[in-house]
Amino acid sequence: MKANFTSILLGLFFFSFANAQDLSYARKIIEKLCSKDFAGRGYVNEGDKKAANYIREEFTQLKLAPMGERYFQYFGFPVVSYPARVFLNADDNELMPGEDFIINPGCPSISGNFKVIRLDSTMVDNNNEYKKWFKKNLKSYFLIVDELKGKKFINQARADAILKNEVKAKGLIFDKQENLVWGVSMGFEPYPIIYVKKGLLNRLTLKIKLTVDATLTIHGTQNVIGYIKGSVQPDSFLVVSAHYDHLGMMGNESIFPGANDNASGIAMMLDLARHYKENPPEMSVVFIGFAAEEAGLIGSLFFTENPLIPLKKISLVVNLDLMATGDKGLTAVNGSVYPDLFSLLQTCNSKGNYLPEIAPRGKAMNSDHYHFSEKNVPALFFYLRGEYHQYHDVGDTYKAITLSKYNEAFGLIRDFMNARMKLYY
Ligand SMILES: [Zn+2]
Repeated sequence: MKANFTSILLGLFFFSFANAQDLSYARKIIEKLCSKDFAGRGYVNEGDKKAANYIREEFTQLKLAPMGERYFQYFGFPVVSYPARVFLNADDNELMPGEDFIINPGCPSISGNFKVIRLDSTMVDNNNEYKKWFKKNLKSYFLIVDELKGKKFINQARADAILKNEVKAKGLIFDKQENLVWGVSMGFEPYPIIYVKKGLLNRLTLKIKLTVDATLTIHGTQNVIGYIKGSVQPDSFLVVSAHYDHLGMMGNESIFPGANDNASGIAMMLDLARHYKENPPEMSVVFIGFAAEEAGLIGSLFFTENPLIPLKKISLVVNLDLMATGDKGLTAVNGSVYPDLFSLLQTCNSKGNYLPEIAPRGKAMNSDHYHFSEKNVPALFFYLRGEYHQYHDVGDTYKAITLSKYNEAFGLIRDFMNARMKLYY
């Protein structure tokens, strides 16, 4: 297209305004999604529902065109949640849920006082000792395993065998944990496992008092989907996705806010929606806030099996998950599966001088891009890397994140999407 001088000047003028990302908008979104009211966007106090409603409100304000029923695509899945008590006392010291200990995702309900035995490597390694020891009736016991030492001689499968077939103890305690990393489960585990932070139990711990109230429900939830119609090729689609769910609450006190994972991805997705609303894209751009990612990529599985647009019309999925850092650069999962897309991404990065390093990774079932690429839709998952160690724990808070390379990552992703749209000419 030929442009005269005035329109170039006007273009430059608008460029400086309309192409800007909005860090304060992103911060506002993240702070809101991490607030107490949203209960970690999980399965206690309707956390995920509140988050979905909030994203729908933003879509409405941005005047995105709705997909599904007023932006919602409904589905259900089984999930174990902990809306009431999760309580642990070791000897007579109360431990804080989330801070001092976590339970295994899918931990069944349990309540009572239990004796504990520290599992020693000689009890497992030495055959005679082992047999003698396992003759004991341990039905009212928890076995304690040192995590560091334990890793060498006991793993989950071995623990399963010991607890189910050989000892029939009540449950297991992994002691001396460095990080308390939690998750979401769609079903009950056979017995409770408690992970206790380093330095809180001693060798002489004799008894625990434990209460866990667990519920298994079929949880109704929804993907949140809006789009902007393309100005040149409305029937070709780019998808920007981010999951809005997180782990929720472990009992009625302990919240997992999920600032980096993945309020940050939702904020960038909304910011990109705001950007493309002001700068109409040539292809249609669909924005999807996925539910139930932490439970096993359920929202994206449901969407790809019940797509609201034909999957073969999607030329690119950009999935954003963990976007709050970036000092060490960005990783593109599926980058080595789609070398052409990856080199386009690298070109955009060097042209804009955005991030210190762009690294490719192979296929991985670790976020919502996965079910797209499995169905032959080109899909990349971007996450930022930096000095940030809060992952699936109570410390992943709004206050802890820096968003140090948010502007750069936004610029890179915008340029990459624009370049991808240009490839069609
Ligand atoms: Zn995530």
